[in-house]
Amino acid sequence: MTSTPRFREALQEIPGYRAGKRPDPRTDGVEAFKISSNENPYPPLPRVVRVIEQAAYQVNRYPDPGSVELIDAIAAHADVPPGHIAVATGAVALCYQFAQATAGPDDEVLFAWRSFEAYPIVASVAGARSVRVPVTADGRHDLRAMAAAVTERTRLVFVCSPNNPTGTVVTQTELDEFMSEVPADVMVVFDEAYIEFCRDPEAADGLATYDRHPNLAILRTFSKAYGLAGLRVGYAIAQPVVIDALNKTALPFGVSIVAQAAAAASLADDAELRARVDALVVERTRTIAGLRDRGVAVDDSEANFIWLPLGERAESFAQECEAAGLTVRTFPGEGIRVTVGEPAANARFVEVAADALAG
Ligand SMILES: *Cc1c(COP(=O)(O)O)cnc(C)c1O
Repeated sequence: MTSTPRFREALQEIPGYRAGKRPDPRTDGVEAFKISSNENPYPPLPRVVRVIEQAAYQVNRYPDPGSVELIDAIAAHADVPPGHIAVATGAVALCYQFAQATAGPDDEVLFAWRSFEAYPIVASVAGARSVRVPVTADGRHDLRAMAAAVTERTRLVFVCSPNNPTGTVVTQTELDEFMSEVPADVMVVFDEAYIEFCRDPEAADGLATYDRHPNLAILRTFSKAYGLAGLRVGYAIAQPVVIDALNKTALPFGVSIVAQAAAAASLADDAELRARVDALVVERTRTIAGLRDRGVAVDDSEANFIWLPLGERAESFAQECEAAGLTVRTFPGEGIRVTVGEPAANARFVEVAADALAG
């Protein structure tokens, strides 16, 4: 007789939760920076904080389950009908919903690898099988290989652009070609969590593409460019038939009153937020140039992070960063991902990397 509850076998493939590393408290006066989670280093705009305060007075009530005001604000912002939008507690929640809505046992969920870590987890939770197509040597999606990997069992494809963690984008030509090859009954999710940081004119534009393909959805979030990671709001844009399926799999009342109000208010302050994003893009350019000047080979990035494919050197280098007060994201045996953060954090990272890695 076992003494524990019986859980679904699929859960065994899911790694146990690892708490995000918190910077060790420093005793040496060195300011520590967490540049491991692609957060926005700027605190919320004062106007958004006031909206959050006001919304706090209403939390004895359930939130609007339809998130009507927020959806209307997103619709106006993206210039799409409100019926083309679903919101959830972060874009990650929408990844779960897409898997729940499309895939079950024996079905396949296809994505590039390495890409966003949530994809294999949401596939497993749905009981589906993950099919990983390796990214190219320069960290790009190999969409030809992905199209070739589609089988009758494929129900869901995630395409991440800019890709977390490699920072590369899918071009419009690549996306158009891919969509023409994937069967129309296979759901394709184009994850644009970092699109606001993208400056590559060739990058695919999900918003300009989804209305040509009823099986294409785009995923956006308030967590990165909009700096509201702590409130958990993301959204999908797709045809109403896709939105209906997402709404059926949604957690009821998931997006709180506070989160709905803050996200809508952030869209109203778009110009100010865009200026912050521009400043982070300038910091990205400066940091990459600084690394190259100091002899550290690094690829361009279209997101708010930089990828260093260090292989076996990843873990020891991450420890050297930690010792210097910088908490970075480690992918053991593969590389490290560094968020573009405060200028002081970025400058220190260049110093640490130059000392440790210049070849
Ligand atoms: C951060 C991230 C998301 C969304 O995160 P939420 O905070 O859940 O909105 C989605 N996709 C990728 C690739 C990400 O890196």
